[in-house]
Amino acid sequence: MANHERLHKLNNVVPQWFTPEHPYLSEPLSEQRLLELADNERDFLLLHGGCFRSMDSAHDDQVRFASFFMFPSLFPRKAFDKARHVQPVMNKLYARVAADREFLTDTLKATIEVDDFTASLFRIYAEVSQQKNRQCVSLAVMRSDYFYDTHCSDIRQVEVNTIAVSFAALARTINQCHRYVLGQLGCEDKMDRIPENESLQGIAEGMLCAYDHYGVPGSALLFVVEDRCANLCDQRFHEFAVCRLRPGVRVLRRSHTQLITSARLDHLNQLFVDDVQVAVIYYRTGYTPRDYPTQAHWDVRLLLERSSSIKCPSIQLHLAGTKKVQQVLTRPGVLERFLDSPEEVSQCRSVFANLYSLDMTSDGDAAVQMALRSPERFVLKPQREGGGNNVYGREVASVLSQVGEDAGRCGFVLMDRLWPLVQRNYLLRPPSLGQVEENGGHRQTPFPVDSVTELGIFGYVLCNGSQIMENKCCGFTLRSKPEDVQEGGIAAGLGAMDSPFLV
Ligand code: ADP
Ligand code: MG
Repeated sequence: MANHERLHKLNNVVPQWFTPEHPYLSEPLSEQRLLELADNERDFLLLHGGCFRSMDSAHDDQVRFASFFMFPSLFPRKAFDKARHVQPVMNKLYARVAADREFLTDTLKATIEVDDFTASLFRIYAEVSQQKNRQCVSLAVMRSDYFYDTHCSDIRQVEVNTIAVSFAALARTINQCHRYVLGQLGCEDKMDRIPENESLQGIAEGMLCAYDHYGVPGSALLFVVEDRCANLCDQRFHEFAVCRLRPGVRVLRRSHTQLITSARLDHLNQLFVDDVQVAVIYYRTGYTPRDYPTQAHWDVRLLLERSSSIKCPSIQLHLAGTKKVQQVLTRPGVLERFLDSPEEVSQCRSVFANLYSLDMTSDGDAAVQMALRSPERFVLKPQREGGGNNVYGREVASVLSQVGEDAGRCGFVLMDRLWPLVQRNYLLRPPSLGQVEENGGHRQTPFPVDSVTELGIFGYVLCNGSQIMENKCCGFTLRSKPEDVQEGGIAAGLGAMDSPFLV
């Protein structure tokens, strides 16, 4: 669909900016007012930790505000409620997938023959699942991502993340900031249209639930982090939220590199890091090949997996979060294997987009032909996380014509392209250090962009194998990006924090 058609379609769903029908902005703001609000919001984020570490600085004490949209984006309330409502079912689904060895093995069989990274994770899984007396309880902190798709006028799931889900803390901060700006715009009566976000508290409660289940006084929560991390504020706020709820609980932050020399198992497979016993291992890294630069890094992941600590996520839940699993779950009859009722099955299915296997089968061949005929209708996804890996539009055809006949195509899945709502909003990005010098430190100015928003719903589930012990939906995040940007990594500066104004 051409952009003007999409905008037209959008106009029928939610009112455009600066029109009398807009729910909170009925007239254009003067430039002076806009700049004043931008300064206020930027400082709000800086002073409430809505920031990233400045990775171009050699010093660890420098942060910059996270890119953000100045005003909350309009999001259909019905769709928002639906996404929240389905989250406990999604939690259960992924917990049960992770517990089903036969399903995971069959599903990933062709993928691991061509994808080394997934194969390395799978080897750890295979080894650990042979182990006697292994820890069967695991914690899943998940985020299910959605677009409001204009082609079907409903939400469609982009993906489910099962490891290192981020932005629960930044989402809360931008949420508070947007409530503040709504007040400044004289719309305090509309505050309830920005739903309160309990994401951070919910996730912290999930971690403590796992901690209590482990039940060893004096033991610690281990945050496994990158050697030097950009998303510092988001991670640290998780830690502080745990410590606020339970001040006595010790939290250790260690990178894989540090754990190579400081982690050990005792004869009962209890994990000790610098002689402190670890109750729960919470990964904020470990999901890209970059996180395993040497064999010793892989060895330490295996060591952690072998331990009796409760993992968030377990290696099997990590594997359950692959795009390949997402694709197989859309096949007829598969959800029925994991869920408890036809209602749960239809709830889940109603948010799925179409995904297609590219395995070396006749179905795979047909999917390749379909994508070659109209590549603009599809997205090609490898088994990677963290953004920047997918292939769109004409490139889908060129990649598929290269690997179309080759088993390498089993490393990808094909997905229908989604067409999210487009709306205009003001984006503010932090200056890079270079720009600061050039401009003599002048403030950045906000600029209007046609943007699309992606809703993420958080949830956690504590389970013992396929048995669900605790299952909660906890809050949301909204990330938006200019509509012509295909992938909006916030850390990469393309996407930006946002929050929903429900309409
Ligand atoms: P990753 O695990 O790298 O985050 P995603 O599947 O979430 O992979 O894709 C990254 C981004 O690409 C999404 O945030 C979204 O902006 C865009 N994207 C993913 N799938 C689609 C799709 N089917 N249609 C349109 N855009 C998509
Ligand atoms: Mg994603």
